[in-house]
Amino acid sequence: MKPLLEVRDLRTTFAGNPATRAVDGVNFTLDVGETLAIVGESGCGKTVTALSILGLIDEPGRIEPESVVEFGGVNLLTLEARELRRIRGAEIAMVFQEPATSLNPVLTVETQITETLRAHRTISRTAARARATDLLELVRIPQAAERLGAYPHELSGGMQQRVMIAIALSCEPKVLIADEPTTALDVTVQAQILELLAELQGRLGMAMLLISHDLGVVAGLADRIAVMYGGQIIEQASAAAIFERPMHPYTEALLKAVPRLDRPVTRLSAIAGSVPNAATWPDGCRFHPRCPHAWDRCRTSHPELTPTAAGDVRCWLTDEPHRRVR
Ligand code: SF4
Repeated sequence: MKPLLEVRDLRTTFAGNPATRAVDGVNFTLDVGETLAIVGESGCGKTVTALSILGLIDEPGRIEPESVVEFGGVNLLTLEARELRRIRGAEIAMVFQEPATSLNPVLTVETQITETLRAHRTISRTAARARATDLLELVRIPQAAERLGAYPHELSGGMQQRVMIAIALSCEPKVLIADEPTTALDVTVQAQILELLAELQGRLGMAMLLISHDLGVVAGLADRIAVMYGGQIIEQASAAAIFERPMHPYTEALLKAVPRLDRPVTRLSAIAGSVPNAATWPDGCRFHPRCPHAWDRCRTSHPELTPTAAGDVRCWLTDEPHRRVR
């Protein structure tokens, strides 16, 4: 069966001197009802990947012509702006990182939900209002009818994010893209929002692309995980395989930075160094300046994403496992 969404050879570049290749040959699929998490540090290309799927890259950025984002048998990147707007928000919806800045501060909750509905559906004002109330109940906002008249500043961060989710779900999308949906929230509210997303996904049967810098956040939600570094996917496997037996040293390092309840933790470790600048990716493996296992081959030769029994990995250790430092 064909996947619901298929991204092939996605490349997104920002003009400059030198140009910045923020996303550099990304491939993945998303099936009906599945959750794929895209994980990596800030600056690795996760958010640009999500924005590229929705055609939300503005000048000086551009999606390279060989890129394909296939949804419902159509390459979204070849659609006219008007056709893409019809799909965006209705069939593929997005929840952004910061509800406080994503919501319009001068419009009520009702206006913001019904605007999306009326942009994509032929629906009367009364029916749109009733649907907005239902949506607020769906995302478990108490006294939903009364909250319709509230402005964003009258709501807590958690409530604002619930409103963002309600807006995203208003047209019953087939795919929900959630970009760091809990970053701005405290830990308790974060857990509530993740639980809500999991429940809604199960009830509504939509697929989800969950973007996060934190493997801990995606642990309970993802079926599969794609780890990004340097604008590329460096490991892709089932969530169980990633957590049990990560293959790429970067994935290992990300996991060591996550506290786990199922294993004794002596200390959490930070990843040495920082994400390289997208305008000047290092030669060879892009992770080599930070990798404890790097040897000469890593510094000069760029590994391809290679299929293995456990998943896909972009690392020379698959050829030369004896090089792994114990
Ligand atoms: Fe480390 Fe080399 Fe693998 Fe890159 S290719 S992750 S530098 S071992």
